[in-house]
Amino acid sequence: MEKINLKSLDQDELQALLKEMGEPAFRAKQIFAWIYRGASSPDEMTDLSKGLREKLAERAEIRELRILRRQISEQDGTRKYLFGLDDENAIETVFMKYRHGNSICVSSQAGCRMGCRFCASGMAGLARNLSAWEIADQILQVQKDTGERVSNVVIMGTGEPFDNYDQLSRFLRLVHEKNGLNLGYRSITVSTCGVIPGILRFGEEFPQVNLAISLHASNEATRSELMPVNRSYPMAQLLEVCRSHAEKTGRRITFEYTLVSGVNDGEKQAEELAGVLSGMLCHVNLIPLNTVREKSFRGSSKDYARRFQAALERRGIPATIRRELGGDIDAACGQLRLKA
Ligand code: SAH
Repeated sequence: MEKINLKSLDQDELQALLKEMGEPAFRAKQIFAWIYRGASSPDEMTDLSKGLREKLAERAEIRELRILRRQISEQDGTRKYLFGLDDENAIETVFMKYRHGNSICVSSQAGCRMGCRFCASGMAGLARNLSAWEIADQILQVQKDTGERVSNVVIMGTGEPFDNYDQLSRFLRLVHEKNGLNLGYRSITVSTCGVIPGILRFGEEFPQVNLAISLHASNEATRSELMPVNRSYPMAQLLEVCRSHAEKTGRRITFEYTLVSGVNDGEKQAEELAGVLSGMLCHVNLIPLNTVREKSFRGSSKDYARRFQAALERRGIPATIRRELGGDIDAACGQLRLKA
């Protein structure tokens, strides 16, 4: 019989398992806490009796992602991990150090089927969804490897989180659990390319988790050209949904906007963008395009980025230019992919 992976269970499910084994409910809490402290086997759970540890080990195990490769940036200490899953797939995770704490960028799928034109991560399509424990384990393994605590999580690695909504929501609940990682919902950000049904559900179920939208264009035509998802969920509808999300949750939405030279980075586009975002509780994060070798797009110059930012701010839209970390290890946005 295949062993149960304890890491795939939430506290209630652990409790049910322990009950079935004739153990009291509080044991489940102890075990859950051990798992999120990074235990890799019931043997390590020293506050359980030896008998129970043995009984557990007969039925269950704690699976882990394997570190296949790790690159550490000499510039800023950013780390990029390539993790192996139980099948032949692999995923990437990035760990970043900021003054306000450590941040991690996790993947939600192995591959992606959204096909954004400028992005390397989706070039080979979707291999499969990650399960909640595989998303959470990226945090556990990085904490183990660095010996440091992660305080902020962004779901901005490979994959479209709302294309894997059920496992994403299970992941959010798992890492929010007080007895485990105890991550506050406000220190988590989910980034989507604009899958409207996902945004609606997310607004109902997780009003405190931050929402980031990959917008990248100021009008429908440009957006459809860069992001095929815009043909299913047009920008006008997307922005309407965002407006009511911000109103309902009272939380500022981040719009990610990658500046592509000659495509979306002119004064005219800045004006157009300010127009469509006008009056919304939001913030624009301008991302320098990371050149992906196989693609023909080029990033805008620093001057253009500053001009674009100034044009937005003049019209009352707060905007920042994202600092680039880990440039020397290809850890930047849209570059997460498996280099064979
Ligand atoms: N699917 C989600 C999350 C993963 S992508 C989403 O679309 O939001 C994370 C961010 O990196 C997105 O804003 C994406 O558009 C951006 N990105 C992708 N390729 C990029 C590139 N080459 N340069 C800069 N940003 C890129």
